[in-house]
Amino acid sequence: MLIVKKFGGTSVGSPERIMNVAIRCVEDYKKGNDVVVVLSAMGKSTDELIDLAHKVNPKPPKRELDMLMTTGEQVSVAMMAMAMDSLGVRAVSLNAFQVAMHTTSQYGSARLKRIDSERIRHELEDRKIVIVTGFQGVNKYDDYTTLGRGGSDTTAVALAAALHADSCEIYTDVDGVYTMDPRVVKTAKKLPEITYDEMLELASLGAGVLHNRSVEMAKKYGVPLVVRSSLNYSEGTVVKEDAKVERMLISGVALDKDADRVSVIGLKDRPGVAFRLFDVLAKAGINIDMILQSIGREGTKDISFTCSDGDMDDAIKAIETNKERLQYSAIESRPDVAKVSIVGAGMMTNPGVAAKMFEALYNEDININMISTSEIRVTVLVDLKDADRAANAVHEAFGLGD
Ligand code: ADP
Ligand code: ASP
Ligand code: MG
Repeated sequence: MLIVKKFGGTSVGSPERIMNVAIRCVEDYKKGNDVVVVLSAMGKSTDELIDLAHKVNPKPPKRELDMLMTTGEQVSVAMMAMAMDSLGVRAVSLNAFQVAMHTTSQYGSARLKRIDSERIRHELEDRKIVIVTGFQGVNKYDDYTTLGRGGSDTTAVALAAALHADSCEIYTDVDGVYTMDPRVVKTAKKLPEITYDEMLELASLGAGVLHNRSVEMAKKYGVPLVVRSSLNYSEGTVVKEDAKVERMLISGVALDKDADRVSVIGLKDRPGVAFRLFDVLAKAGINIDMILQSIGREGTKDISFTCSDGDMDDAIKAIETNKERLQYSAIESRPDVAKVSIVGAGMMTNPGVAAKMFEALYNEDININMISTSEIRVTVLVDLKDADRAANAVHEAFGLGD
């Protein structure tokens, strides 16, 4: 069997944890399996590197930030190879250049395009454990890129797909995917299985347990994923095409505190206005999430949208720069908002799901700022101060907890 095992920051956060992971990987290797290990940077070292960069430049060039961040993963893989060597096992660490992990060119949010698998295969044939840096790639300029925060999961899934691995195991600091982040909702329950589609929604809506691109890629290439703990041997959660368990109405709740709302007030109520606004934002490279347009009154209307925290200032700047073209009376911004979402394939065939969510929020006296829905999710925007309470109330209302 060829097994890809990915360990996140906490799992390799100290020399002792690295040793523990090494022992775990060697167990699989000694059973005769080929083992490829993907690692994140130790502990919070990616955050520390970003803080370090900001000490010399409040807006560090993205290329240089990637150059800096990629050192974090390089520390972990070298440490892991040394730990395995101390256990008498042959291991080799490889970075994105040595493997040749080709990505698109955007620094900070590159996408994996192609992975050369020869070097890894060669090392495996030589009976070595291969340890690969997560999160990083190389672009057409031969520069380091990174895949976005949490991107090591995507490295692991991409490698599993490229190597036609028999399994891809994501080890983290919780023992699987829960009905909600167990740090926020204490009664959250571990799910034995979840479908790619549901997991993709949850991951995209703020459930940081898996990088959303990793789920997208797992679905595309049919890579079965297991999310489990590096600290114990409990079963974990299987992410796959069709979960066998009886379809629950709601499989999980997600909370995303990285959301800001911008409202453009007093736009003209005539054709082309929304087009012009979102064209300006698209050209400024702003990713828009929820959109709400008010009903036109007395010839004017308002349009509100949400974007991520990092994009709000640029969005406002782009709108202000184009004031002449857009013709509005004011811009209002709210950085202190959060998204709460419910996700579940069961809601496709069950009416009343949204109403139940809104009732739970009403019972807690929580105001809803915006609403958006898809086939398998309902998202509301609430004040940041209400976010944890909202997630707990909704989780409880659908009977997801213990
Ligand atoms: P790693 O460093 O191993 O990649 P992350 O911090 O990226 O770990 O992801 C694990 C964390 O994700 C957990 O500690 C948990 O707080 C959070 N999380 C958010 N939503 C969920 C969820 N639905 N199920 C499990 N964990 C979740
Ligand atoms: N070390 C990177 C981060 O902190 C990648 C990862 O952990 O997946 O975002
Ligand atoms: Mg992660």
